[in-house]
Amino acid sequence: MTLNPRNRKARDIELEVSEPATGRVEFPLIGTDRKRVEGLDVACIIPLLQACPGDETESLFACADRTRKGFVGDSVHIRGIIEFSNYCVRSCMYCGLRRDNRKLRRYRMTPDEILAASENGIRSGYRTIVLQSGEDPYYSASDIARIVEGIKAFGDVAVTLSVGERPRSEYATMKAAGADRFLLKHETADAELYRRLHPGASLETRIECLQNLKGLGFQVGSGFIIGLPGQDIATIARDITLLKELDVEMAGIGPFIPHPDTPLASYPAGDVTMTLKALAVARLALPHANLPVTTALSTLQKDGRQLALSCGGNVIMPNITPAKYRELYEIYPDSASLKDPEDGGIGEIAGMLKAVGRGVSATKGDTLPREKRPIPARDEASFQ
Ligand code: SF4
Repeated sequence: MTLNPRNRKARDIELEVSEPATGRVEFPLIGTDRKRVEGLDVACIIPLLQACPGDETESLFACADRTRKGFVGDSVHIRGIIEFSNYCVRSCMYCGLRRDNRKLRRYRMTPDEILAASENGIRSGYRTIVLQSGEDPYYSASDIARIVEGIKAFGDVAVTLSVGERPRSEYATMKAAGADRFLLKHETADAELYRRLHPGASLETRIECLQNLKGLGFQVGSGFIIGLPGQDIATIARDITLLKELDVEMAGIGPFIPHPDTPLASYPAGDVTMTLKALAVARLALPHANLPVTTALSTLQKDGRQLALSCGGNVIMPNITPAKYRELYEIYPDSASLKDPEDGGIGEIAGMLKAVGRGVSATKGDTLPREKRPIPARDEASFQ
């Protein structure tokens, strides 16, 4: 990684410089070690996100790919998502599931339907089941806990929940039932932008939820959206540093896609390359994290999965929601997951991974606690 030598000491990032004229990052990126990566701050990240097309961007992506290989290996974790309810009490400005979208036909899966879909997924080979919904208090914490226990009875699988903001006590009930992980994207680290996009909600509460989840022992995933109206490059850099501060185990980074029945219908979609750059920088900042290839990226770009896998991604989350519900979970239109077969296409994914020299992980894909994470030998690690 190459930065203006003027800033080298303060940032504690190794620089390889051919006397930059601009003070921005010089490419190619040349190595550093994990300790130095801990110093990756907003000022360091912005120039990386500004990498020019061609050699600079390729250098960033290659650096992220080496980091991924060194810290989390070539295996890709495959997690099956079941979208079990599209009801939502919130009205996020960018989301088709928002409460105020009266055009959407709503559905809720019964616990039996959720368990049947989970069992099918496990039979197909998934070792993690992700239960996702809008913020739908119809399902009490006890309801969710019973479903988690039911899934756990099927075998040695992990359960990830993505059911929005709840009181700490409810998260505790879910954890006690055996839930392993929880996804709650922070969406944007700009508190004012957050307030404008999420009526009645605050970034502060979001972060408090994430901290509660962490404190309860969940493996925690957060993430953010690229291309939200009002976002700038400094916001994205701050998004990445917030992930580091929260010490998340997982991070989903996907582009904004406008939905016609939302207030943001007329805004352009997020930029694919910026999404990939943010993913790559997130890999440098969070070398041990599980970073999924987002469906939104695959929706905007046909080969989005392969691209993201080459920029630091190591998780794929196919949709295994029963077909009759799938098109109703419309956060944005024409999701790539609508084309997935009922089993999420796990066989096709295995073939695609083989073709790019990767493989399906044989483990559940848990993130090790910080104190147990191995630090790869320098020559196999990353930033060289
Ligand atoms: S982003 Fe989540 S919380 Fe917001 S409206 Fe959509 S489903 Fe509901």
